[in-house]
Amino acid sequence: MPKSPTVDGQPSGDSRRRSLGALLRRVHLGGPVSRAGLAEWLGVNRSTVLALTSELVAAGLVREGFPELTGRAGRPSLVVRPASDRVYVLAFDIAVDRLVAARVGLGGGIQDRREAHRARAGVDLETVVGVLADLGRQLHRAAAEGAVCVGVGASYCGMIRPGDGMVRFGPDLGWVDQAFGAELERRLDLGLPVLVGNEAHLGALAEHQRGVGVGVRNLVYLHGDVGVGGGIIVGGELLGGDGGYGSEVGHMLVNPYDGRPCGCGSRGCLEAEVGERALLDAAGRPADLTGRDAVREVVEAAGRGEPAARDALRTIGDWLGIGVANVINLFNPGMVVFGGVLREVYRGAAPHVQRRIAANVLPVSRTRAQLRVCALGDDATLVGAAELGFARLLADPLGVRAG
Ligand SMILES: [Zn+2]
Repeated sequence: MPKSPTVDGQPSGDSRRRSLGALLRRVHLGGPVSRAGLAEWLGVNRSTVLALTSELVAAGLVREGFPELTGRAGRPSLVVRPASDRVYVLAFDIAVDRLVAARVGLGGGIQDRREAHRARAGVDLETVVGVLADLGRQLHRAAAEGAVCVGVGASYCGMIRPGDGMVRFGPDLGWVDQAFGAELERRLDLGLPVLVGNEAHLGALAEHQRGVGVGVRNLVYLHGDVGVGGGIIVGGELLGGDGGYGSEVGHMLVNPYDGRPCGCGSRGCLEAEVGERALLDAAGRPADLTGRDAVREVVEAAGRGEPAARDALRTIGDWLGIGVANVINLFNPGMVVFGGVLREVYRGAAPHVQRRIAANVLPVSRTRAQLRVCALGDDATLVGAAELGFARLLADPLGVRAG
């Protein structure tokens, strides 16, 4: 095979693309860093970093400059930082109760956002995509002059076919085989593919890359919306399964005989026992009351000592503990992260969850698994969608060259 040509004595082709991608990823996820720091991190010499950085500067993806003043004496060394004001993605979060759109700069900062609330039932693809496309175009128009959109990512509360963003099954919205990704791409008309992922998968990646799970290579993320989604990271990689539909922790069977009916058509799934309706019913709240605020109210009421709310959290906490005990025994994670509305539920029910784990998890795994609430709050899935949008750029920075 012919040897790859070189530029400035540096390798070209795949290896160069990988190095550029790795460097840009480090700056994107880790923030400003010196050339010396980049050389050490990439395991290359300084002249190689200089050449790589120069290419990214020329492409308008990073800038070099002096760091923020630290008050320390001596000549500060130059740092490489993402060109956040020039390069951005559009990120969308399609949750059961709300639609969120954001413009997210390289480096991960949310620059601008728009949100729409919507009814849960009877909302068709056309309506959802129409609202999202309007919000996306507003954000695109409001971007600084000269700024370039390099990708579009979306988080959806259902099972997504990875290749084309087809919603295979969205039980909470009643969607089956809806061409969501393709339709949003057509309506946005930006000449960019729309990449779509399952909300809990993206929440797991976001917490792993930017949240409480940074540096944790084996992590289980549980996302509560109306139901419960799961994202499992093994060895730093999301466990997608054969078709990308894996990690459905919410449909783990925990109560087959007298369990509550589940949106998937089964009975006694984890999400049927710990989801929004289970908690509100257990707390004696009216059947027409729904939403994150209602769940949060029950947790607050339990904190004030309301007996019905406390009982509800004990029941829900026990079921949640059963589910978490199973995933800890199966995957031996270093961390279990509670996201979405499960963040509040876990805060209110932690002793009950922990009691079940103490009783049912094998000791060698139990001692390793930290239980944490997500660090990115309600934005975990939106941040994950943005990272999906940046994926093409980070894989091939000059192929998706900005400007
Ligand atoms: Zn189910």
